[in-house]
Amino acid sequence: MKWGLKEKMENHAVIPKALMLRGYKDGKILSTQNLVPYTQEVYKGPYWHVHRADFHNTMVQAARDLGVKIQLNSCVTSIDFSAPSVTLKTGATVAADLIIGADGLKSRCREEMMGRADPPHLTGDLAYRIIVKADEMRKDPDLRELTEDPAINFWMGPDAHAACYLLKGGGLYNIVLLCPDNMPADVNIMTTGPEEVRDFFKTWDPRLGKLLNMVHEVSKWRLQNSREMETWLHPEGKFVLLGDACHATLPYLAQGAAMAVEDGAVLGGLLERLEDRAQLKGLLAAYESLRKKRTTRIVLESTHQRDVFHLPDGPVQEARDAELLRDELKPGFPNKWRDPEFQKFLFGYDAFAEVETAWARFKSEGSVNSML
Ligand SMILES: Cc1cc2nc3c(=O)[nH]c(=O)nc-3n(C[C@H](O)[C@H](O)[C@H](O)COP(=O)(O)OP(=O)(O)OC[C@H]3O[C@@H](n4cnc5c(N)ncnc54)[C@H](O)[C@@H]3O)c2cc1C
Repeated sequence: MKWGLKEKMENHAVIPKALMLRGYKDGKILSTQNLVPYTQEVYKGPYWHVHRADFHNTMVQAARDLGVKIQLNSCVTSIDFSAPSVTLKTGATVAADLIIGADGLKSRCREEMMGRADPPHLTGDLAYRIIVKADEMRKDPDLRELTEDPAINFWMGPDAHAACYLLKGGGLYNIVLLCPDNMPADVNIMTTGPEEVRDFFKTWDPRLGKLLNMVHEVSKWRLQNSREMETWLHPEGKFVLLGDACHATLPYLAQGAAMAVEDGAVLGGLLERLEDRAQLKGLLAAYESLRKKRTTRIVLESTHQRDVFHLPDGPVQEARDAELLRDELKPGFPNKWRDPEFQKFLFGYDAFAEVETAWARFKSEGSVNSML
């Protein structure tokens, strides 16, 4: 919003009214977190669902409007951290004042900085990603309800969960099924027939079965994540990592891209205050210090979310469901988006305020170390 993109993003957004956790067998609602008007009233902002292509296009356009030159098809193969410069697959070298390695989960930049191979970690889970037309769902009285009052619905079951919500102005219904990884060792993305998911979810809420009967092809993504890195900075002070390249997460709190954007806001906020080149190294250290603890916690909580969601039937699952239904809110509440302490940590974060406070500390104490 502070980047002036509210209207543009809003054009692509669906605003879910609530987030619901359901039991897997019958879809019974166990916990509801209101989002409208709650997030606006408490956190001064909406909760949006935006298709990643629309989000990306809006950000690209905003960057171009600011005069950013984007050069595509430029695969980085190595980095000179001292210059600093990158060498591309074409053999061309591109020099800069600062290099930001934001090349995702299988980051070449991270491996260059570490000086060794550092493949992402298997999580043991995969995501089936499916999109169906909401109009098709509206023809079925059992499915219509899911499209009428936009909500994020999670079904929690043994070893798996389903996350479903509307996208593209309500025209598409996004279904993400999080299940144990059964992909071949050397494959990370593939397509498969719908029988595989229909079979896995055949004992789940019949509405999910109906949804999966509308599907012809399913894409399948292996889910991998990171371990906390010792540092995101190269000691020369002219290179830093950002986004999945340094804190890839299971998507179970829907925070991966959100964290990358927060990183960008903090790094941008610090760099726009730069008064002298000599401050660069210190500002990069401040960026890491402001961001690393938060991203590590979100990555760990996302992994823990799996333990909460994927419980097998039995006494522990029954206790979880009973606690959700009692709805006595306290830290550790099993619906993390409704845990009063964690919710505030997650939604109450203001990257601009973080930078402002850190910078004020620097100005009053005169040393970038005061921001660390
Ligand atoms: C199933 C699933 C659901 C998700 N749901 C959500 C969600 O609801 N909310 C959310 O916030 N996040 C979600 N995420 C996470 C989100 O997709 C990632 O966290 C986010 O895309 C990370 O952004 P990034 O810019 O760091 O990396 P990426 O989006 O991976 O971008 C990296 C870029 O670097 C480029 N690149 C790679 N190598 C090189 C190289 N050598 N040279 C040059 N360029 C290179 C790539 O082509 C790519 O364009 C989900 C992820 C998955 C798998």
